Amino acid sequence: MSIPAPSYVRGIAPYQAGKPISELAREYGLREDRIVKLASNENPLGVPESAQRAMLAELEDLARYPDSNGFVLKGAIARRYEVPPEWVTLGNGSNDILELVAHAVVQPGQSVVYAQYSFAVYALATQEVGAQAIVVPAREHGHDLDAMLAAIRPDTRLVFIANPNNPTGTFAPAQAIERFIERVPADVVVVLDEAYNEYLPPALRFDSVAWVRRFPNLLVCRTFSKVYGLAGLRVGFGLAQPELTDLLNRIRQPFNVNSMAQAAAAAVLFDEAFLQRSYEVNAAGLQRLQSAFAAMGLEYVPSFGNFVLVRVGDAAAVNERLLRAGIIVRPVAGYGLPEWLRVSVGLPEENEAFLAALPAALGRA
Ligand SMILES: *Cc1c(COP(=O)(O)O)cnc(C)c1O
Repeated sequence: MSIPAPSYVRGIAPYQAGKPISELAREYGLREDRIVKLASNENPLGVPESAQRAMLAELEDLARYPDSNGFVLKGAIARRYEVPPEWVTLGNGSNDILELVAHAVVQPGQSVVYAQYSFAVYALATQEVGAQAIVVPAREHGHDLDAMLAAIRPDTRLVFIANPNNPTGTFAPAQAIERFIERVPADVVVVLDEAYNEYLPPALRFDSVAWVRRFPNLLVCRTFSKVYGLAGLRVGFGLAQPELTDLLNRIRQPFNVNSMAQAAAAAVLFDEAFLQRSYEVNAAGLQRLQSAFAAMGLEYVPSFGNFVLVRVGDAAAVNERLLRAGIIVRPVAGYGLPEWLRVSVGLPEENEAFLAALPAALGRA
């Protein structure tokens, strides 16, 4: 410990990612094609063909740096969401945007508000800028927005909200979010992280971009990693009015989104057929998993995303037995949920493989 580093950096618990298929194969001597990964909320349909074609066309230009200003992709996002391109920030995953905003508006010692059991990156982004985390207890595993509002202090600069939330899958209705943003002080930035927005049933969908037009302190984040099937490329974006967008732009890496990612994302943004199929596969799979859990007498949190949190008891032991059976799901002890596993919705045959392995993993078979 001779390298001087801020104590808040030494205090960070590194992010624990879902186990890669190749790693499980190596460690357990399993064949990769027998492994089912339901651990990272990826799209089980894979990379959309529209994106594959765009990337092939991009391949020959890879000796060049990417477009630092992301002209084509920002233009596509601007058209899709009916905002000026100057309101768009591209990120190396939306994870990048979450960190950019913390670096842009929070000083060491100031505070950041987020909910218990919300996305792990909020804690990381808070700690890496030396800020104080105000973690607001969850209500029924979801955000308690009234308590979050009450938790804001004079030194609070940032509030993170995930809607739907990961890892719990909970959802706060549009009116509740809108009322929250209306009441947050104007000098506190609200990040509305909508990584799973496209999985909401039509009746629950709402226009968060309209709030971006009303509130200069709002940043809405979206990602191409989930429903769009491009997690490995690392691309996401933020929408905010020009003042906040300009701050983010000052501190981002000049080439933070690579050329392949920009090309693929621009192509898939208007691939309605792929989006619709992804939505339907997920809705059916989510229903299947949740009704199977109910039939097995397992408690679960009804989900609005592409994953579901289920209570299995000794989750570490259950997880270990699932791994031996070639099934990768996500333990969430790091979130303070040691009795639960988070299971991503897969293809029908993947869901069935998981459900078939589950009774033995629970020690019931
Ligand atoms: C997956 C996820 C993200 C971001 O993922 P990227 O791959 O970095 O775009 C952001 N927020 C939540 C809540 C997520 O679950």
